[in-house]
Amino acid sequence: MSYSWGTERRFNAASNYFRDYFGARVQKVTIDAGFTCPNRDGTKSTGGCSFCNNDAFNPSYCNPEKSVTQQINEGISFHEKRYKSAGSYLAYFQAYSNTYATAHHLEKLYNEALSIPGITGLIIGTRPDCINDDILQLLIQIAETKFLVIEFGIESVYNETLQRINRGHSFEDSTEAIKRCNEAGLKCGGHLIFGLPGESREMMLQSVDNISELGLHTIKFHQLQIIKGTKMASEYQDNPQSFNLFTIDAYIEFIVKYIERLNPEIVIERLAGETQPWNNQGVIWNLRYDQVLQLIEKKMKEEDTWQGKFYKP
Ligand code: SF4
Repeated sequence: MSYSWGTERRFNAASNYFRDYFGARVQKVTIDAGFTCPNRDGTKSTGGCSFCNNDAFNPSYCNPEKSVTQQINEGISFHEKRYKSAGSYLAYFQAYSNTYATAHHLEKLYNEALSIPGITGLIIGTRPDCINDDILQLLIQIAETKFLVIEFGIESVYNETLQRINRGHSFEDSTEAIKRCNEAGLKCGGHLIFGLPGESREMMLQSVDNISELGLHTIKFHQLQIIKGTKMASEYQDNPQSFNLFTIDAYIEFIVKYIERLNPEIVIERLAGETQPWNNQGVIWNLRYDQVLQLIEKKMKEEDTWQGKFYKP
């Protein structure tokens, strides 16, 4: 059986979407272009989001002391050595808030990335409060000729949670930023974390209806992982009962239910985070992402369910 996204996989997978869109396998190359974010530099706060430790997510080739060109070239050779070669690459501005600078500075960085042979587009990770008219104009101009996704950290639809994790913006800020981008014809991605303190499984599940209607093109889901040295790690030590970290079995149960209510038009880039040894709060999955994915797809098959089976527009 082929689903509305044109494959037999039970969810609208980004790997298939990109292959269809570009006609070949596409790999992302991550860049740390030396940005900070308003939640760290004092504009909104100095402490940052309580779960944040950006260094934990950067691949080895990714270092702001190197130019964008050097990071991309090293990233491409890193991927060529490890995986079968990709048809093309997307430059992924990932670390911190990658629209948090003047449009002039951003233009230089984005154009540097796009000038490298093999780079066919950009994915730009940012916060909803880091988009202004000048930046929007720049993004519109780039999207006229290149593939472009603006990826927003939404994290939760609940403002109480966003406050608790010191996110420094509301869910309405995310809604507004995505709406502005959509109206400008730009593709938006979203990032959500499941398991944030204070949220019950039912609250997380109910959030799917808000997420489905946001106008997102792509989405990434992560289970909460508490990283050593973060504010959240201390909060966990002081008050572990307010956390409800997912075991692998509970997560599979949950995410399958979530996906079957999710708008089938949203391309799923990630269904879980790569588990790391520093997630040491007694809940360790010890599985690679591809293994987690297999378990999720197995469960979907057993339950004969798929993305959007119970989606209500
Ligand atoms: S998660 Fe993003 S927005 Fe939050 S402090 Fe870290 S870089 Fe800033």
